[in-house]
This record gives sequence, structure tokens and C-alpha cells, in this order.
Amino acid sequence: MTSCPSSPDPVFIPIAGDGKFPVRRIYCVGRNYADHVTEMGGDPKSSAPLFFTKSRETVVKNGREIPFPTMTNNLHYEGELVAAIGADGGVFGYACGLDMTRRDLQAAAKAKGKAWDMAKNFDHSAPIGALTRVSDFSLRDAKLQTMLNGETVQEAPLADMIWSVAEIIQTLSDYVTLYPGDIIMTGTPAGVGRVKSGDTVKIAITGLETLTIRYA
Ligand code: MN
Repeated sequence: MTSCPSSPDPVFIPIAGDGKFPVRRIYCVGRNYADHVTEMGGDPKSSAPLFFTKSRETVVKNGREIPFPTMTNNLHYEGELVAAIGADGGVFGYACGLDMTRRDLQAAAKAKGKAWDMAKNFDHSAPIGALTRVSDFSLRDAKLQTMLNGETVQEAPLADMIWSVAEIIQTLSDYVTLYPGDIIMTGTPAGVGRVKSGDTVKIAITGLETLTIRYA
């Protein structure tokens, strides 16, 4: 007789300084920087925020080497600001994150009006750095920068986001009840591109722990 599996281990993100943050659900925002919407062939002002999800088991901690994913010939990095929901329902803290994307599968799904899950929610698809408490971080004047093998490939002020973190939380809350432990990947600016086996991807946001991962 097949035995019942045990529950998976809880997933934590380290908190800068001290402690760990238990991850509940991961929500992601599509199309939140005008220049990235344009590079993907869309109209920035045409629609409300687009949401999709990743499983918490996709989280990868800072500094890890990641196996190159299966089923893709066009893996893309998307450097993003991550917001984490705290016990009071407000933002607990922020971190650097990567919304890794099988762009070829996403393009095929988009063309056929099919779901994005296998393009977005796959093993090791959510590298996230340590959370900095909201009291220790200022969004104002902060800049996001993604580097591929040391070369800057994405660079944008967080002020370029079409929807602010507060607006994202407000809109997302119309669809689901947000709980402490939920985290939100807030979208990527222009400059997304291909990652190959052996590449190092780094994302830096002013005032947050820089996130670095390497593909085996
Ligand atoms: Mn994204």
C-alpha cells in the first residue's frame, strides 16, 4: 500500500539582521514597468495589473547554484522588488527577487490563450534575497539593477513602477485575502533576457541585500 506523504517543510526567507520570515503564498505582478510592457509588445496603459502565482517551494535562497531548468531553450531573468506582508496586513519588508521565466513556454501559452503556469511556476523559479524591514528601507530614490555575468542588463528607478506597492496590494486584495507570510513580486523593468548554463545573475536594489545566483 502506498503511504501518505508527510507535509513539506515550511519555507523561510531570512530577515536581514536577524530572524526568518515564513512564506505562505507568492503572488507576481505582470506588466508593471511601461518600458517592459512596450518591449513585450503591449500597451502600458491598456489594462489593470496582471497577477499570477508561484508555489512557495520555488523559492531559492541567496548564493545558491541552481540546476538549469528542463523544457526550455529560452530561460529569462526578471529582476524585481519583492514585498512581504506582515502580521498587521501591511508591508513587513522588501527584498531583491528574480521571477525566472521559461520565455518560450510563455510565448507559446500567450499565442494560444493558455495558462502560464509551466512558464512561471517551476522548480527554483523564485530566487529571493534577505528581507529588509520596511522601517529600514526607502523606496524613494531606490534603483533596481540586474547584472548578467557582471554586465548591467536592467536598470530602472523603482519610481518607474506603473502601480505602486500600495496600489498592487489594494487591487490584489479585491481578488484574494492577503495574509501574513504572503509575498509579492512586483514586476520587472525593460531589459529582460536569456540566461544560459553557467551564467551568474545578480540583482541589486538600493538599500537591500544583493541577490546572486548561478546556473549549473
Ligand atoms: Mn515578472
